[in-house]
Amino acid sequence: MKPILPGAMLGLLGGGQLGRMFTMAAHRMGYQVTVLDPDADSPAGRIAEQFICKEYTDQTALQQLGAQCAAITTEFENIPADVLSALASFGTVSPDAQSVAIAQNRIAEKCFLQTHDFSVAPFAAIEHIDCVDDVKHLFPGLLKVSQFGYDGKGQRHVNSKTELLDAFVEMNSVPCVLEKKLPLKSEISVILARGCDGLTAIFPVTENRHVNGILDISIAPARISTMLAKQACDAAEKLAHILQYQGVLCVEFFVLDDNRLVINEIAPRPHNSGHYTIDACITSQFEQQLRALCGLPLGNVVLHHPCVMVNLLGDLWQKGTPDWYYLFEQSFAKLHLYDKKVARPGRKMGHFTVLGASVDEALKNALLIQQHLE
Ligand code: ADP
Ligand code: MG
Repeated sequence: MKPILPGAMLGLLGGGQLGRMFTMAAHRMGYQVTVLDPDADSPAGRIAEQFICKEYTDQTALQQLGAQCAAITTEFENIPADVLSALASFGTVSPDAQSVAIAQNRIAEKCFLQTHDFSVAPFAAIEHIDCVDDVKHLFPGLLKVSQFGYDGKGQRHVNSKTELLDAFVEMNSVPCVLEKKLPLKSEISVILARGCDGLTAIFPVTENRHVNGILDISIAPARISTMLAKQACDAAEKLAHILQYQGVLCVEFFVLDDNRLVINEIAPRPHNSGHYTIDACITSQFEQQLRALCGLPLGNVVLHHPCVMVNLLGDLWQKGTPDWYYLFEQSFAKLHLYDKKVARPGRKMGHFTVLGASVDEALKNALLIQQHLE
C-alpha cells in the first residue's frame, strides 16, 4: 500500500471520545478528518475539519465520505459490517468488515475464538426462548445481549433457568449469550497494532479494575508474571494474524484463580484501557491507529513511566463541576476531558492519568486524586 501522507483527509465512523482522541493525533501529524456520526453533539465531530451528521447507513453520506477520504477507520464496532465492505470499494478501510462483524456480535466472536482454539468462558447462544437446551452447568451465569452491549449494559446475572428466561424476555428476546460466571483473579488487556505489512507492535499489558461492569482503573504495566504477560501477548498477536487484521485491536482477558487466561472479548479499535498510552508510551494507541490506517511504519510502544488511568464518569458531575485543583497540584497527573455537554451517571466524561517512578507510586497517587474528586 502506498503510504498516505500528512495533508490527506481521513474518514472516521463514529464521533465519540475514541474518535476525538484519534482526530487529535491526526491533527498533530498534519492530517485532516471527516467524521460521520448521527449524534449532532459528537465530541469528535466538534473538532474535525468536516462533520457529517447522518446515520451510518445513509447512502449519500457514505458516498461523500468515500469520495473525499484517502482512507477510512472506525472508533465504534457497531457500524454495520456491510457499510465497511461498501466503503472498501473507495480505498483502504481499517479495521475490515470481517473483523468488525466478528467483534460486534458476541455469538460470532465466541464461536470464532473457539474454532481457533482460544480459551473462552463456557457459554451457550440463547436465540429463541423455546430452544434453550440444558444450561444448568452455566449457572451462576451472565446473560449478555449479543450485540450493542457496552460498559456492562445489556447484561443480567442469572442463577436458574427461570431467571434466565425472565431476563431474556426482559431484554426483548434479542439474541444473547449465556456465559458461566468465572472466579476472576484479575482482568487484563492487550492492545496491539498490526500494519498492512503484517508487522505488529504490542503495548504493555494493562491490569483493569471494573466497578459495576464499567472500567474504573487501568494499571500499566499489569502486575502479573512475565510468563503470563507473554502468553496474553502471544494469544492477541495470533488472533490479529488469523484475522489478517490491519489497525488497533484490543483483547480483554480474564485471569482465573489458577492463572489460566480466558479471552473475554475483543474490540476492533483503540480501547479505554489503552488511554494511558497517550501520556506514558512513546506512541499512543491513536497515533498507532493512524499509522496502521495510512500504511506508515508502526511507532515504538515503549512505556516510559509506569502509569495509572482513572475514568471520570458523569456521576462526578451530579453536584456540579468537579473541583480539579488537587489534581492540577499533582505534577505527574494529566487531565483529559472529552467535552461532552451532558454528564449522565455512568457516562464517560474524561479520564486522568498519573505517571510514577513505580506502579505502586502511580497507583497510590491516582487513588488519592480519585478520593479528592469524590
Ligand atoms: P462490556 O462489553 O460491557 O465491556 P464485558 O463482557 O466485557 O462487557 O463485561 C463487563 C465486565 O463484567 C467484565 O470486564 C467483567 O468484570 C465482568 N464479567 C463479564 N463476563 C464475566 C464472566 N463470565 N465472569 C465473571 N465476570 C464477568
Ligand atoms: Mg468489556
